Amino acid sequence: MNNKGILLIISGPSGAGKGTVVNELMKDSEKYCLSVSVTTRKPRPGEEEGVSYYFRSEKEFKKMAENGELLEYALFCGNFYGTPIKYVEKRLAEGKNVILEIEVQGAIQVKEKYPDAVLIFLTPETIQDLEDRLRGRNTESEEVMALRLRRAREEVKLINKYDYIVINDLVRNASKRINSIVDTEKYASARNKDFPKNFLTKKGVE
Ligand code: ADP
Ligand code: 5GP
Repeated sequence: MNNKGILLIISGPSGAGKGTVVNELMKDSEKYCLSVSVTTRKPRPGEEEGVSYYFRSEKEFKKMAENGELLEYALFCGNFYGTPIKYVEKRLAEGKNVILEIEVQGAIQVKEKYPDAVLIFLTPETIQDLEDRLRGRNTESEEVMALRLRRAREEVKLINKYDYIVINDLVRNASKRINSIVDTEKYASARNKDFPKNFLTKKGVE
């Protein structure tokens, strides 16, 4: 079977647990690597430059976008967020599964450019669970939280753009579900178009 990496998009409303589940997935650093995004948002306490995000001014961000350095970008609740293209292309070429933890507009842009990308919508079971988690995280003002919850109501309507819905009830369960999706996708016939040729010429690739 082929050794190509899968571009894995994980989206979901703010407070769904994307960061938490991605951290769990990243424990298997052989299997996954994580793209670090650029943002114009101010760092939260504990967030580190180059680890959580690359924190940039709006001017710097726009320059990167104009120079074609971003695979996709979007405006989310008043701040810009974007994916540096270089890292993603390099890691995919090395056969790594690359995780992008991005919002819905960006995910749609990626699917247009990379139809092979696997789009996962991660969400708690209900909007009430979402609000509880967002409140429990205690990182947002009431105003920003209200904005993000309003946004969540819009985002969930775009769920049909995604290949899979993963419920984040328990972090371990959600990460297991995502691991299974990735493992199954590897065997998709559409990802193994060279199989007949290799089969007939005995040049099977592990
Ligand atoms: P996101 O990255 O989607 O905005 P976070 O990963 O920051 O969300 O999670 C939001 C809050 O919910 C955090 O306080 C986190 O600890 C908590 N959380 C994440 N997953 C779960 C879960 N399965 N059950 C309960 N709480 C969770
Ligand atoms: P936060 O401010 O909570 O870190 O992120 C807000 C939203 O921006 C989340 O939905 C997150 O997935 C999304 N996001 C983070 N990085 C990117 C990116 O590079 N591109 C896009 N389109 N969204 C991103």
